[in-house]
Amino acid sequence: MCGIVGYVGHRQACPIIIKGLHRLEYRGYDSAGVAIVDQSGEIGLYKCKGKVSDLERFLDGKATESTIGIGHTRWATHGAPNDANAHPHFSSSGRLALIHNGIIENFRVLKDALKSHGYEFRSSTDSEVLVNLIEYIQDTNGCSLEEAVRMALRQVVGAYAIAVIERGVSDRIIAARESSPMAIGIGEGEYFLSSDASSIIDYTHNFVYLNDGEVAVIEKGKPLQIKNLSGEMSHVDIQKLELSISQLEKGGYPHFMLKEIHEQPDTIVDCIRGRVNPDTKEVILSGVLDNQDKFLKAGRIIFVACGTSWHASLIGEHLIENLCRIPVEVEYASEFRYRNPIIRKDDVVIAVSQSGETADTLAAVEIARREGAFVYGICNVIGSSIARATASGTYIHVGPEIGVASTKAFTGQVTVMAMLALVIGKLRGTIEEEKYHKVAQALLDLPDTLRKALDCSKNLENFAKIFTYAHNFIYLGRGYNYPTALEGALKLKEISYIHAEGLPAAEMKHGPIALIDAEMPTVVIATLDRTYEKTVSNIEEIKARGGKIIAVISQGDTQLRKRADYCIEVPSTEECLMPIVSIIPLQLLAYYVATCKGRNVDQPRNLAKSVTVE
Ligand code: GLU
Repeated sequence: MCGIVGYVGHRQACPIIIKGLHRLEYRGYDSAGVAIVDQSGEIGLYKCKGKVSDLERFLDGKATESTIGIGHTRWATHGAPNDANAHPHFSSSGRLALIHNGIIENFRVLKDALKSHGYEFRSSTDSEVLVNLIEYIQDTNGCSLEEAVRMALRQVVGAYAIAVIERGVSDRIIAARESSPMAIGIGEGEYFLSSDASSIIDYTHNFVYLNDGEVAVIEKGKPLQIKNLSGEMSHVDIQKLELSISQLEKGGYPHFMLKEIHEQPDTIVDCIRGRVNPDTKEVILSGVLDNQDKFLKAGRIIFVACGTSWHASLIGEHLIENLCRIPVEVEYASEFRYRNPIIRKDDVVIAVSQSGETADTLAAVEIARREGAFVYGICNVIGSSIARATASGTYIHVGPEIGVASTKAFTGQVTVMAMLALVIGKLRGTIEEEKYHKVAQALLDLPDTLRKALDCSKNLENFAKIFTYAHNFIYLGRGYNYPTALEGALKLKEISYIHAEGLPAAEMKHGPIALIDAEMPTVVIATLDRTYEKTVSNIEEIKARGGKIIAVISQGDTQLRKRADYCIEVPSTEECLMPIVSIIPLQLLAYYVATCKGRNVDQPRNLAKSVTVE
């Protein structure tokens, strides 16, 4: 997935790049590196295995003075996470240095061809092939770097965001993108570039987001030039990004994840602001209202998503089927895109992605568009690829999510889906007015409800210690809370490395109950709703077999308080919003179990936040 940063201007590049890389570590942290053009015009390249802080230590005392540079934090796709495979990569002669985010799918063919021309490779990455291809083209054609980049990219199959610098050239970076994000920050006589605009928000709020197939010539003191791969000029569209630096910091919490869990009462305020009228209880989503006909005649809604967004979409399925009576399907974007899916013209495809850059979801969007469906996006990152590729959509507005395990994005996504269901249900006349007002009021009350939920979970830190012994967990839920069980299990897996499985509670007796013994904790979401009594029976079945029950129960439920081994209370809300509340203790349980086990919860092994590879 990788994070890339670049700078050209009048300031020292290295500190800017290092700071940007720290903020991009959510995208990968296998290795890090920088390349600069030094005072004598030579390229200074420094890289090492490990995190950005390891790179900082490695750079200590080295002469990195320069006003131009590129940097990279890697999530390895091709080649082990080691020093040699770290980016930037030199070209064979050392004249060029390149950073790359993405995958060059035809790198083997290109590599063999380059080898036959005498090129040697220092790494096993796909990225090194690209820098050598550019050098080879430049050498054989005697063309400029910009032209060589365009010619090379015409031969490349795959995804990339790249930045290249050249020996002896201290005022120009060439950058390009195809299916991987790249934002160019515009300063006063200086330019910044990054995979994520928020990482360089300290320096500018003005950004140009490269489109697929575009190459940028970023030259100090000159206007930004953007061309397509054939060399034709593109329009430079500068957009403002409103974001404050404090949103990117931990604010006194030991981890971003804990900060983001505790932020949820406030992020829900931001998510519903201007969308649910506190006086009239009217819910307004302009993305839907501007495209009413699409939702009125929708024969089906298909959610495409991955990971946590897929779990949120399962809740979206319940919400829309219940309140709008439209058939809904929820697809893993990665399966959908390769399955030759049947998409009809009256389908509405809703793509859900926190980053808006998830490669599989983006590809699913392209397929749906091609087949003529109306495509709607639910994203967090403003101006992201999915937000731009969809016909309309709703931002969840929960602010930057930096912890790799998604928390506030999940609750924001479900909140948007609830608003979506209310708006569509009202348009289609499938929701009773009383119900509409009740759910709208519950949405307005959600920030307070979440505050209470956080309060109820205060003692989870002590309680989590009990379970660090476990090698496996089962999470159970029914109805709206079945996806909550899946999401709770995913949180635990991601950050504690304990195996956990989420299941519909009633499925236990069809096989998984065989796993129950005194060593197996089962987390059951058993709040007071339509399926409560059934869930209580499932709890009894597990207890009868010696299993230990951790139950998430409604405040004041005395029945389960007596039956479950451990209880975590949550406040009540409308049943369809309950997942937003019941996920809170599960996020905290995962967090505390992981920290008790000494895990790095913000940077769990093998993961990266924004999955921009397929
Ligand atoms: N494919 C490149 C590598 O393995 C970049 C990886 C990425 O962007 O995730 O180094």
